[in-house]
Amino acid sequence: MRKIIGLTLLLLFCEGISYADDVIHVDNQYFQKYRGRIGVWAIVDSQMKLSYYSNKFYITIKEVQEINGTAISWGDYIFVPYSEKYIQELEAQGIKMETLESKKSDFIWPLSRVDNISSSFGQRGGGFHTGADMPATRGTPVVAVMDGRVISTRYEGGFGKTICIEHRDNFFSRYAHNSVIFVKAGDFVMKGQVIGLVGSTGNSTGNHLHFEIRYNDIPLNPLDFLPYKENLIQSHAIRNWK
Ligand SMILES: [Zn+2]
Repeated sequence: MRKIIGLTLLLLFCEGISYADDVIHVDNQYFQKYRGRIGVWAIVDSQMKLSYYSNKFYITIKEVQEINGTAISWGDYIFVPYSEKYIQELEAQGIKMETLESKKSDFIWPLSRVDNISSSFGQRGGGFHTGADMPATRGTPVVAVMDGRVISTRYEGGFGKTICIEHRDNFFSRYAHNSVIFVKAGDFVMKGQVIGLVGSTGNSTGNHLHFEIRYNDIPLNPLDFLPYKENLIQSHAIRNWK
């Protein structure tokens, strides 16, 4: 009898692992994750706002401080975790976490909806465009394309507010022109975790994500790594996007 229970548990455990490898949770505007909690990034512009979130999400101010520290500056984005009760309320309204099937070794798209690459990887004008430009509305969540460790988050000249993440086997991903960056160097991020919001910082004339995949600092065409999209429009022409 004990053997059967043991075997059943082993099978359940193995099934659990394969499920976790194939189905991942991708952050959207309602469900975001940070440091093992589900919640949302929000601007706190007054002491009142903190109490407001605490009441709305049924959480304590202490829980907010455990994630963001006690020195919260007004006007900063902080991560506000949800309680189980609030998650159930959202689900009752039909607002659910978005899941996506993805093999552990596969990259996912950094934005949930991309119909069009406004400027492709390759020669452009007199220079070389080291990534793919994806137009999106300002404030669209930018997610990590693979599990990894954030190695830098800084303002990089023409690239504006830029995030660089190191992944397995010397692969790196870069996300430029963000309006806001949530993560910090040293953070471990999960595939599908929101890391910033689309913007137009740096040398850019419209809201878009400049996305790169590098192998040992050599930029490669991101579209060779991202899941194939049937009706993707690609422009090789010089556009205003940078
Ligand atoms: Zn670009």
